[in-house]
Amino acid sequence: MARKHNTRVILENVEIIDVAAEGKAIARVENKVLFVPFVVPGDIVDVLVTRKNKNYLEGKVVKMVKLSELRAEPFCSHFGVCGGCKWQNLPYEKQLYFKNKQVIDQLQRIGKIDLGEIFPIISSEKTTNYRNKLEFTFSNKRWLYDGEEELPKPTDYWGAGFHIPGRFDKVLQVDKCYLQEEPSNAIRKEVYEICVKNEIPFFDLKLHTGYVRNLIIRNTLDGQVMIILCLFSENNVWQEIILSHIIEKFPNLTSIYIAINPKHNDSLDGITPVLYKGESHLIENLNGLKFKISPKSFFQTNSTQAGVLYNKVKEFAELTGNEVVYDLYSGTGTIGLYLAKNAKKIAGIEFIEDAVINARENALLNDITNAVFYAGDTKEVLNDEFIALNGKPDVIVIDPPRNGISKEVIETILKTKPKKIVYVSCNPATQARDVELLNIDYKVVKIQPIDMFPHTQHVENIALLVIR
Ligand code: SAH
Repeated sequence: MARKHNTRVILENVEIIDVAAEGKAIARVENKVLFVPFVVPGDIVDVLVTRKNKNYLEGKVVKMVKLSELRAEPFCSHFGVCGGCKWQNLPYEKQLYFKNKQVIDQLQRIGKIDLGEIFPIISSEKTTNYRNKLEFTFSNKRWLYDGEEELPKPTDYWGAGFHIPGRFDKVLQVDKCYLQEEPSNAIRKEVYEICVKNEIPFFDLKLHTGYVRNLIIRNTLDGQVMIILCLFSENNVWQEIILSHIIEKFPNLTSIYIAINPKHNDSLDGITPVLYKGESHLIENLNGLKFKISPKSFFQTNSTQAGVLYNKVKEFAELTGNEVVYDLYSGTGTIGLYLAKNAKKIAGIEFIEDAVINARENALLNDITNAVFYAGDTKEVLNDEFIALNGKPDVIVIDPPRNGISKEVIETILKTKPKKIVYVSCNPATQARDVELLNIDYKVVKIQPIDMFPHTQHVENIALLVIR
């Protein structure tokens, strides 16, 4: 089956059998797992091996021998080059099937536990334009296609869009992105065009020169829009050219911010965006509650599905109004505030101080007086003193980042003995590991996978654990 070609190993007629965690698909070759991107189960392909490890291989397709019957035609012209939406080649129903399977496989294989009732995955109401935040990168060295090596004008090499996967210094010039409602594409294009016209330089990601770096666009379900224009340095002339043009073209933008970022990386850590025009924040209305969205505050990226997720958490928690509820990894307090009306008290813990400030503001905005939020690392803040101060929890809601919960937090939860744990996870592998550790005292009663990110491999899962 294997053929050597200039010392490169090509595996022929490999059948893709399943999907894997990071959006790649898998095959089995010589008793090893082979990871391959941009293919779907049922495809038969010739694969060039790009990496050999003791336990697995990685490769890329050099020839499509036979296309799978499962395939769908990707609807975006950037599919295959752009790093987003890697699953557009699978019909949405099949994406849901594989996400559901991944949650169950991971929990059963890693956690080796009985899952109780397994509800079928909830699909996303919107499968395009579902994101409420996108960040476009501007670069003076865009990704060039074959035949584009010698272009007439220097600005022909400029681009605005997304990083090419694995290439921090190359940016894909995006024509139309299907991830966010308009005017998202329109604003990006206008910024691009006014800069090109006036030769206002885009950032050079290697040399750290140029001016325009990023454009972050946030929006709400009812059409409020915030833009954050990230620039490498101060230049009032260029800034005015760009923003007066944007305001003329989009007079109804809710909020316009400028962020001067002189650092070598794009992150806004340590940088305070300055309000240029309009409101200081957006307000998202979700199932009767209002949430403030500031330039840097965290909010679940798919607002409609966030509403669905929070409702499920509420349903799983089955509160009567008398419970003390801890909201661990509380972000801007969304889950806790959702539950507050049906609980005696909510106590949230969140790492990022700004998010805690937002959570307190969100409590005020919604006249919620029985919710408190603490800043700090859960493993340090959740201690005996915290429990004495806030009361022993009846229910603990956990919504950690991808790496799951630390051992110390699991030990404290086991010691504290809440009746119920509602565990919201964006990574079924770490959820499985954590649930296995909780298994001595808690059994999983039901699980509910939810799709928040159509056309990607990401899946959210809620597990209800009840004390034995
Ligand atoms: N429940 C929220 C946010 C969940 S995202 C919502 O639905 O909107 C996970 C959050 O955990 C992030 O806000 C992140 O800042 C926070 N976080 C990560 N590690 C943490 C830790 N060790 N202690 C406390 N919070 C942490």
